[in-house]
Parts: sequence; structure tokens; C-alpha cells
Amino acid sequence: MLVALLPGDGIGPEVIAQAVRVLDALDIGGLVFEEAPVGGAAWRATGHPLPAATLDLARRADAILFGAVGDPECDALERHLRPEQAILGLRKELGLFANLRPARLFPELADASALRPEIARAIDMVIVRELTGDVYFGQPRGRRATEDGLREGYDMMRYDEAEVARIARVGFETARGRRGRLCSVDKANVLETSQLWRDVVIEVSADYADVELSHMYVDNAAMQLVRNPGQFDVIVTGNLFGDILSDQASMCTGSIGMLPSASLNDTGKGLYEPIHGSAPDIAGQGKANPLATILSAAMMLRHSLDRADAADRIEAAVAAALAGGARGADLGGGHSTGEIGDRVIAALG
Ligand code: NAD
Repeated sequence: MLVALLPGDGIGPEVIAQAVRVLDALDIGGLVFEEAPVGGAAWRATGHPLPAATLDLARRADAILFGAVGDPECDALERHLRPEQAILGLRKELGLFANLRPARLFPELADASALRPEIARAIDMVIVRELTGDVYFGQPRGRRATEDGLREGYDMMRYDEAEVARIARVGFETARGRRGRLCSVDKANVLETSQLWRDVVIEVSADYADVELSHMYVDNAAMQLVRNPGQFDVIVTGNLFGDILSDQASMCTGSIGMLPSASLNDTGKGLYEPIHGSAPDIAGQGKANPLATILSAAMMLRHSLDRADAADRIEAAVAAALAGGARGADLGGGHSTGEIGDRVIAALG
């Protein structure tokens, strides 16, 4: 199994290094790593944030483990040369349409949540967000002048039924592998796109009689996520609503340094990355929490490499390390990036 390592910028290489140590320590054999530059690091080396050789490696690999991109020194570059374009390019080129973000509160971190501990403790959900459509990509879009000479901006919200059906299936499959409950989030009381979304999700549900389907308007979902997040198992939603709700859900669980994600295509290939960015403010200081990336590696084993057993071992080791007091600066602790990696490795069963 070929794993492409794309460490990127800032703390990206630091957290990827710890994830690779953990993967090596699993000692499961069969994993081959190949590394390539991406983001600002790639722009410096080759003049492009997503060089052809990096894209080629990503295509050849069975899975991609991605650190983070973003470099303040690149902020003045033309948009197509900015580091962040690399991640958009990879999503597009590899057809990564399904973004899975688990949000789970490790009991030891209940005090780190923005919510009261008794509410936060119940959080254990996955948000499945459509990643390649919706108002972010719809045409037409642009700016123009109205007849009255006012400046006007416009974006097209659109989904076709095939796009909705394929993300709905990911939602149902994810729910089937968990507690069997899927909540589809839309705004069908106002938007035609959402009404189509709801109709298609209901049609697809005919193939998943074992999954309990519910629907919720996005404004209510935002409220319920802070009122009673424990009610959710799997949420499936479009690109725009998912963008907002997944950030909201993640902060309910504590630190940004704890949360992994997967972006999958229809062959099961995936790009796995922490949800945080390159954190230039702490780069090179050994302060980055590597757990989000280590947990991303666990997702990679489960979703793309067919090694759920090894994924379970990593997740149990992270829980044990936290229970044993492992804390980075983001969680008010004093452990370095490498020390947190050490503790996870020590806890591997
Ligand atoms: P960020 O996630 O990099 O950092 C936000 C805050 O959280 C910072 O104070 C940072 O120190 C802290 N933080 C983040 N990850 C941490 C970790 N693992 N351990 C401890 N603390 C951590 O977001 P930002 O500051 O808005 O963006 C910085 C750069 O990252 C920008 O260039 C942005 O475009 C880029 N970015 C990239 C991605 C990606 O690669 N997928 C995602 C988000 C932002």
C-alpha cells in the first residue's frame, strides 16, 4: 500500500512526522511511504504549490496523508500560486467529493469544550459534507452593476440529483457503520436546491431500511449542535452548510489540534488531514499538537487501507495517552509535539 506524504508548510511537517512514527510503530507491514512537497514549500522548490510530480504521486498512491498548507510569505502571490490552491487542486483532480469529519469528545477533555462538560461529554458524531458542488462552484457567479448602477454580487446554488445521491450514500454507509442514525440537514422550506436534496435523500433511503433517517433545517441544526449535540450520530449536508456546521461542531469538542478529517472519492481513495492549518505562529517551536494528524492516519487505515484493526489501536492509544495526562500547549499542557507522539507510541497495544 503506497501512502503519499504531503507535509506542506508551518507545523505540517512536524505533525506528519509524528503520525509516521505512530504508523511505523504499529508494525503492521505493507505500508510504503513516499513524500512530496506541497503548498508554500512546493512553490519555493518548483514555482507551483501543486507540482506535477506531487499530483502524480497523489494519483498513484492508495491514500494521501496531508499536513497543512499556508505561508504568510506567500499571501501576496497571485491567487493560483498561493499554497491553499494545492488543496483545492487535489480535491478537484482526485474527485474528493465526500468530507468526513468526526467530532468526538475524549472524556478527559470535557473541560476544554466551549460547552458545559455535561453537554459536551455526549458529543460523538460524524459530519459528512459534500465538497465539490453547491454555491461554492455553481455557475454563473460574479459581480456586475444593477440597472440602478449599484454593485451586485451573485453566486449560483445548485446540485444535480446524482451529486446528492452519491453523498447521501456516503452518509447512509457511515451511519450503518456507527449507531445507525442519519440526519440530513437542508433548508428545504426556502430553497429549491434543498427541496431536491431532501427528495433525493428520501429516495436513496429506500436502500438503507436499517438506517433511521431524519431531516433538519440548517438553522435548527446550528442551534441543536450547541443545545444537545449528543442527539447526532451522522449528519449529511451540502458544501455551504457543512462548512459552517463542521467548524461549529469541532469547537464544541475542544481544541482544533484534536480533529481529523477524510476527503474521499468514489473509489475509496482518500486524502486525510487535520482540520487545522499551518499555524505559522507556533511553527518550528515543537508546540503543535500532533493528535489530529495521528487520528487522521487512523481514519486512513480504516477508510482507504482496509485496516480497521490498526485504526482501533491508534484511537485507543490516543485515548490512553490523554487519560495519562498528555497535553500540548493548545490544551493548557506542557508537552512538546514529540513527547505527545512518544506517549501515543508507548500506549499502542
Ligand atoms: P490555523 O488552524 O493554522 O491556526 C489557528 C490557531 O490554532 C493558531 O493560534 C494556531 O497556533 C492554533 N493551532 C492550529 N493547529 C494547532 C495544533 N495542531 N496544535 C496547537 N495549536 C494549533 O488557522 P489560521 O491561523 O487561520 O491559518 C494559518 C494558515 O493555515 C493560513 O495560511 C491558512 O490559509 C492555512 N490553512 C490551511 C488549511 C489546510 O491546509 N487544510 C486549513 C486552514 C487554514
